[in-house]
Amino acid sequence: AQRVFSGMQPTGNLHLGNYLGALVNWVKMQDTHDCVYCVVDMHAITMWQDPAALKSAIREVTAAYLAAGLDPKKSIVFNQSKVAEHAELAWVFNCVARLGWLNRMTQFKEKAGKDRENASVGLYAYPCLMAADILLYRATHVPVGEDQKQHLELTRDVAQKFNNDFRPQIEAAGFADGFFPMTEPVIQGPATRVMSLRDGSKKMSKSDASDYARINLTDDADAIAQKVRKAKTDPEPLPSEPKGLEGRSEAENLVGIYAALSERSVEAVLAEFGGGQFSTFKNALADLAVAKLAPLNADMRRLLADPGFVDGVLKDGAERARVIAAETMNHVKDIVGLLR
Ligand code: ATP
Ligand code: MG
Repeated sequence: AQRVFSGMQPTGNLHLGNYLGALVNWVKMQDTHDCVYCVVDMHAITMWQDPAALKSAIREVTAAYLAAGLDPKKSIVFNQSKVAEHAELAWVFNCVARLGWLNRMTQFKEKAGKDRENASVGLYAYPCLMAADILLYRATHVPVGEDQKQHLELTRDVAQKFNNDFRPQIEAAGFADGFFPMTEPVIQGPATRVMSLRDGSKKMSKSDASDYARINLTDDADAIAQKVRKAKTDPEPLPSEPKGLEGRSEAENLVGIYAALSERSVEAVLAEFGGGQFSTFKNALADLAVAKLAPLNADMRRLLADPGFVDGVLKDGAERARVIAAETMNHVKDIVGLLR
């Protein structure tokens, strides 16, 4: 069976990048795969989070998953910290992964910034926890945005080294082709890398200090209109063909968002708006984003109005996740030589 695992950090509200880059694919894959979707709260605390805000964010991200179309009956939906095996397997992987591998991770460099000595050890080891998240379920496919490609490569390196380091034990346990699969990243869909509205060289992020850099799934019509109006652009009018977007990252990003939200091609969008004023296009983009996000917003609010509902989904999901996780961890302990 092909199994999907993916997750998002409750570091704030989800935004259009999370939605178009990942969540849209997650929803689709429910029909063809056995899916496990996680709110990765232990990843979130690699950077300081206000505890009360973190608790709310875990529930809000879960509500966004459900509002976007994840079906908790079909898929396993839970928050990471409820299944202790994530931390347990991450420790084993800390002992498998090499310092040199982690030193190459660009996300750590970006998030740690200049004051690297002061970054948490957790932020540095983040990719090992991510490998554990995925391999705990022996997932074959991981739908993510383009920014996670390097971490997926590290996940494969960890799986391969584990399979090699313990080959005799793994074969003796009856796994002829290695214990962990070589997980495939699924980086596809309309917008695998949505950029910041303020800076076309940076991706849209939950943790960007400026809320004007992103469109949150929870933004109301006024906020969306204002953010789109203030989005950085260049003085040229829109081109009529995609070629004309080269070297114009901000314009390219806005057109890409429009195309993704309207499920049309960039060509078709430029055929309509090319040559016209940027302001006309921006108004159309704001209207489209409002129209697409309003139902999602309403659903999220409805789900969060019932205080017990989301918690019930997470509890049930964790129980189902734990069954798979415990089985994997038992095998890992036997293979590595830890008594259980
Ligand atoms: P943070 O700033 O806290 O890292 P984030 O916005 O990067 O938040 P994550 O929780 O780290 O969000 O990532 C969740 C998923 O969304 C991942 O699959 C990631 O690849 C995807 N994703 C994040 N940002 C973008 C983006 N700008 N475009 C497309 N996909 C994205
Ligand atoms: Mg991120």
